[in-house]
Amino acid sequence: MTFRVLVTDDIDAEGVALLASEPRLRVDEVPTLPKDELLARIGDYDAIVGRSATRISADVLRKATKLKVVGRAGVGVDNIALDVATELGVAVINAPAGNTIAVAELFFGSLISLFRHIPRANASMHAGRWDRSQLLGAELKCRTLGIVGVGRIGGEIAARALAFGMNVVGYDPYIPESRFQTLRIRRAPTLEALLADAEILTVHTPLTEETTGLIGRSELARLTTGAVVCNLARGGIVADDALVAALDSGKLAGAVLDVYVKEPAVGDHPFKDRDNVILTPHIGASTAEAQRNVAVEACRSVRDALLSGELSGSINVAQSSGRGWTDLRPAIMVAQRAAAVGRAILAGQGGRAVQRLTVRYGPDLSGAGDVLAAAAAVGALEGVLESERLNLISARALAASRGIELMVTESEHLAHPSSVEISLAAGMQELAVAGIAPRDSAWRLTRIGGFHVDVAPRDTLVVLTNKDVPGVIGRVGTLLGDAGVNIAEYHQARLAQGGEALAAITVDNAVGPDLQKRLMELPDVLTATIVRFGATTATAA
Ligand code: NAD
Repeated sequence: MTFRVLVTDDIDAEGVALLASEPRLRVDEVPTLPKDELLARIGDYDAIVGRSATRISADVLRKATKLKVVGRAGVGVDNIALDVATELGVAVINAPAGNTIAVAELFFGSLISLFRHIPRANASMHAGRWDRSQLLGAELKCRTLGIVGVGRIGGEIAARALAFGMNVVGYDPYIPESRFQTLRIRRAPTLEALLADAEILTVHTPLTEETTGLIGRSELARLTTGAVVCNLARGGIVADDALVAALDSGKLAGAVLDVYVKEPAVGDHPFKDRDNVILTPHIGASTAEAQRNVAVEACRSVRDALLSGELSGSINVAQSSGRGWTDLRPAIMVAQRAAAVGRAILAGQGGRAVQRLTVRYGPDLSGAGDVLAAAAAVGALEGVLESERLNLISARALAASRGIELMVTESEHLAHPSSVEISLAAGMQELAVAGIAPRDSAWRLTRIGGFHVDVAPRDTLVVLTNKDVPGVIGRVGTLLGDAGVNIAEYHQARLAQGGEALAAITVDNAVGPDLQKRLMELPDVLTATIVRFGATTATAA
């Protein structure tokens, strides 16, 4: 059987060659097509590989009756109608790892430019001047670099910083101690501890609810005077107004920015015309090597997806059970949601670095172990990693690289033949969350720890523990109602009358930190966990 692959958007030749060298693939390479032409042609293809220029919109996907895979040579998938792809069972595969080195190298290039005044030195020479005496610089050696987010890029920066003779300290509550040991860097127990030490602060986290404005006025105030702040991750992690104020007051000696809240950052942006700020226009991934890496990564995934079954990686196991992944979607939802709920509750108890994920599933789901393990890994990591980098194909490898042990077993001893139970261990805490995905009715979460519940969470789930006394449900309902939050389902469970009770409340709106705090302040409420489910939900890839 041969498959037809449409390659577009000037994908690097090495990626195209990888596809073209496979006799079972017929590859057509075209420049970025106008939408009409894409609509006219897409029906002939089993896969399309492109970059961000080609929009894979809902109507393109609906026209693409043979399409099995969309490959994106790069990270962002905003140009692809993910929900529709998912609904149609089309795998979307991106290439998240290929640009790590490019960003790490740009970091040092920019930092040294700042420390050695290279842009000014270069401009003055080109202007015919010899400003040598005004260009006294500083060295990186022996300075303390504080890295917030010790993932792929943070880790590569740490390794290179050690080679420069820097002291390196990292803060990342979501990774185990072992990664800091492997990298040979010091672990800061809190962000505050890192800020107290760092002379150069750099952020390498995704932009999430938690990291938006992570470095604001009070954080910058904790830095030593004369420190430098770098953001090559996403605009908004370092708050613009706070950064401007700290530069103006002289608290900071300089900054390095590659990313901005509003891009393209043109015209009168707040960092313009400042000698002590190195600005680049989001070129972290713009190297020939990174473009080649992402092209090869995306093309390889598309090739494997087509040739080794309908989808690649873990997803194929879903096919080998004789069912398509869409058939397994309810069970995937249970695994993903259960893991997300477990992680959020453990995080509230101080266990943010998940060390072990154990998946058990009933005989009705026989053969689906790998895909359920991947879904559990997605649930445990969503909100911690960038959603574009997290999918059912990448999740197991990402979990492993973060030191999370993943175990999966089929069991006949669960409550229901279609049960999925996810146990999470973090620090000294352990918690199991379970649900069912019956063939003939809707999937549900049925257990949180020792409590029996019955909810199908959508975007947000509120999990409260409270004393089992009269009046709590009314007070919670009133508080949420007054805040304009609509309750879709409210399930109250208790272990014994008058003891501790747990409420699982599915709501239609977001619940912010302020409302969470007010929930916790209600009489007899003990804990309030808000689980915001990620956009990765049930995407095939
Ligand atoms: P990654 O997922 O490998 O690592 C991110 C790390 O951040 C994870 O280890 C995670 O545990 C940690 N983290 C999450 N929330 C945190 C928090 N509140 N506090 C501390 N740590 C937290 O991602 P990566 O590939 O290293 O990418 C890092 C960032 O760089 C992303 O924002 C990505 O979009 C950005 N990026 C920018 C460019 C560019 O062109 N400038 C290119 C590639 C990636």
